[in-house]
Amino acid sequence: MSMKRKVAILGATGAVGQRFIQLLQGHPWFQISVLAASERSAGKKYKDACPWLMETELPEEIAEMSVVNADVKSVEQAGEVDLVFSSLPGDLAGPAETHFGALYPVFSKASAHRMDKDVPLFIPEVNPDHAEMVKIQQKLRGWKGFITTDPNCSTIQLAITLKPLMQFGLKQVMVSTMQALSGAGYPGVSSLDIIDNVVPFISGEEEKMEAEALKILGKYNSAGCNVQNAIFQLSASCNRVNVKDGHLESVFIKLEQDPIIDEIEEAFANFQGEPQRLKLPSAPVNPIVVRHEKNRPQPRFDRDAGCGMSVVVGRIRKDPIMTFKYMCLGHNTIRGAAGGGILSAEFYVSKGLA
Ligand code: NAP
Repeated sequence: MSMKRKVAILGATGAVGQRFIQLLQGHPWFQISVLAASERSAGKKYKDACPWLMETELPEEIAEMSVVNADVKSVEQAGEVDLVFSSLPGDLAGPAETHFGALYPVFSKASAHRMDKDVPLFIPEVNPDHAEMVKIQQKLRGWKGFITTDPNCSTIQLAITLKPLMQFGLKQVMVSTMQALSGAGYPGVSSLDIIDNVVPFISGEEEKMEAEALKILGKYNSAGCNVQNAIFQLSASCNRVNVKDGHLESVFIKLEQDPIIDEIEEAFANFQGEPQRLKLPSAPVNPIVVRHEKNRPQPRFDRDAGCGMSVVVGRIRKDPIMTFKYMCLGHNTIRGAAGGGILSAEFYVSKGLA
């Protein structure tokens, strides 16, 4: 790819926006051209608009860029844009992404459009064929651009591990999450609420997990421009824990078949998708990494596997009620957010869709 595509980040000052900035440094295909956020930040230099939370240094050229309002006019005036990454809060993302989608390919981390009938809910390793839906979306809406969405951060890692299990006839999934603080954005959960504590409630999260996984693993029907949901049941219970990054999930699975643990482990470890075949710049070598230690995965040790893009699975064992159970862990702001969004964009670009 000779010319880098110019990208705008909406919500550039937030937990996910900062991760986009970090991961796009030196990206071979994409170059940041516009940073947009709320009117609280607009007009300020990026370094003055928000506290930089990443462990790597804030790049000098980003620090000096002016933040603009997250509306089409302000973004257009601020610089050339070929595609848009959106990490706006869910309630604002709805109308804003519609305006941007009419003109640009929009890769959204927000929940607003995930369940829209003609919008892909996309993980390139899991449902690459769903990307085609944007062609029909463009026709139906008369748009130059489109909207494609990534799932919720706890759903992405779960769906990646469910995909290789579909071959055994997936019937039921029960999942209990232990979700990191960065998942709530910045400043997020108050320290006095979470120190010495676990909060057994994350607003809207269980409903999102239960609905989204069925769409992601469903069948794309090009004639109707929609997705027929996968037929399995999913029940989620979500908790916020005192961990900075990395969601851990305890998963119980009922299958139609009764594979031995070695077969399940092999299915996880050998799982590969289109990003690996296409050797996309952000694709991890292994979308799923299997650990054999009794006490892994753990957020602190495993969230950076595959540069934060691999999902780490462990403790695969038989279950007395369901068929088997396992733990999985994913980095919520990398694979679960900015890294996942960038990988999606790489996929669309490589397929000539964006
Ligand atoms: P965050 O840290 O609260 O950041 C929110 C961003 O949106 C900031 O840049 C903020 O700008 C901007 N914003 C707020 N109000 C705005 C307005 N009225 N107009 C324009 N911009 C506005 O949240 P986050 O964790 O980055 O999450 C962003 C989105 O990604 C959410 O939809 C979230 O559900 C989703 N998501 C988050 C994660 C995660 O792990 N954190 C994972 C997957 C998906 P200011 O600084 O100017 O206020």
